[in-house]
Amino acid sequence: MARVVLGIDCETDVGSWTPYYEGLVNATPVILDLLNRHGITATFFFTGDSVRKHPEVVGRVRDAGHEVGCHSLYHETVGTPLFEIPGIYPLLPEEVENRLKVATDIVAQAAGYRPVSFRAPRLFGSTAMVNALEALGYATDASYPMYYYRERLVPYHPDAADWTREGALRIVELPNFADLSMDSQDPYGRDMDQWPLFRTAGAPALMHHIDGYMRYCEGRQVEPFLCFYFHPWEFHPMPQGEIHYGEGAVRPDPFIVQNCGPEAVKQFDLLLAMLRDRGAQFFQARQIAQEAS
Ligand SMILES: [Zn+2]
Repeated sequence: MARVVLGIDCETDVGSWTPYYEGLVNATPVILDLLNRHGITATFFFTGDSVRKHPEVVGRVRDAGHEVGCHSLYHETVGTPLFEIPGIYPLLPEEVENRLKVATDIVAQAAGYRPVSFRAPRLFGSTAMVNALEALGYATDASYPMYYYRERLVPYHPDAADWTREGALRIVELPNFADLSMDSQDPYGRDMDQWPLFRTAGAPALMHHIDGYMRYCEGRQVEPFLCFYFHPWEFHPMPQGEIHYGEGAVRPDPFIVQNCGPEAVKQFDLLLAMLRDRGAQFFQARQIAQEAS
């Protein structure tokens, strides 16, 4: 039996690449319908900016019984960058707690309760970030990129001196799925990650990796824990090629926007059905912390 946490990261279209919220506004209702049909609740991690501009979306998510979490203020890098992103510079460690406090307060106001679950944009977490989340009263952080650190397989209490190790902090760190059973061809191991396989290669291709990882866990006598991330903008058609705004244009790599829209919806539906077939149990991030305490 596998425990599954679905995290839906609510941000501008194509992450920080654009200032638009077409995906958030148009595709969140589609995701809510789909989850409802499968009888699944998830955790929606909102940036403070998305909440300020579209508080009505937060209300719909909350009223449908899902958890409202936080995903930074502007989708900025709050931890350690693992690879380069054009035009993005990380916050200084001493800036992190105040920035997260501002984001948390904005999300809390729209949600009607304080968020207790967090996810770092692009899974760029850090020790300073996790300590700041602990100080702000967070119960879980779903930022650990398994593809990169490859050590923690199941939820754990991180160490105050190194967030990637087990320690004595109260917050629970949730590792994000990677297929550790495969040989990576990528210098960073990004091909082991779940994203964006479900829409670029299809749900069965992702399921092949999930099955490989489940066997990997079985070999180590570890109960599989599967934490995934998706984005509303993936479920709405995204522009191909250059996207112009302000004083210039950005051109995301083709895979970033490939199959966004109806194809992604179809594959997500299929993925959920296949996970249920394998007996997966679905949890919100905050429920994992309640279980651990
Ligand atoms: Zn994000």
